[in-house]
Amino acid sequence: MNQAKPADRLLGILGGMSWESTSHLYQLLNRGVAARRGGLHSANLVMRSVDFETIAALQRSDDWAQAGQILGEAGAGLKAAGATALLIAANTMHKVADEVERLSGLPLIHIVDATAEALKKAGVRRAGLLATRYTMEGDFYRERMRERHGIEVLTPGETTRAEVHRVIYEELCRGQICEPSHQFHRRAIAELAGAGAEAVILGCTELCLLLDTQRDGDILPLFDGTALHAQAAIDWLTYDSQG
Ligand code: GLU
Repeated sequence: MNQAKPADRLLGILGGMSWESTSHLYQLLNRGVAARRGGLHSANLVMRSVDFETIAALQRSDDWAQAGQILGEAGAGLKAAGATALLIAANTMHKVADEVERLSGLPLIHIVDATAEALKKAGVRRAGLLATRYTMEGDFYRERMRERHGIEVLTPGETTRAEVHRVIYEELCRGQICEPSHQFHRRAIAELAGAGAEAVILGCTELCLLLDTQRDGDILPLFDGTALHAQAAIDWLTYDSQG
């Protein structure tokens, strides 16, 4: 992946899913590069931010092929703009990661791999997952965690999954941070602890807007996929494998 010198690397971001979390990610990337390189350095990137209603409607109608086509073509546009690697700024849309990688012709900085590396470093082998219904109930996230990284993923019960999903789309993607929902998610973490999870993955890029890994990490350690994904991208942008 570190095919070029850092100065020649341009990160392509597929964002806007939702823009609330992409905006947060943009800050993380720029602050991370500045912290690593100093001075006025910031993240060298090009972004395509989609109209999320279009993507969310395709999710609801189970038309993942069309969603993959749209994101893949957007990724190809980022390649044409000079991007040399791609980041999908959402967990759910990693459901079509292979298609996006194929259509764009760009290597992907995969959110599951970035999250798994941190879990493995911490010695976590059974992790709870809070995310959209698509991510918690589909195979794409849990299978990659298990097959590539040897991590078992636990999800909460049906009622909890439904409410986490509702809060993501009806509150967090619209910029609403509500205390009752915060408390609900703390109970969801406790539920996962009761089911045997050693840690909990914030597997939706908006959840870090509601839960703080320090303050809310008192029940179980929390692994924020957004921050870990950002860190992997910062490493890619700044690390010179040639020394
Ligand atoms: N950003 C969210 C995620 O990380 C949910 C919104 C979406 O479906 O993309 O899964």
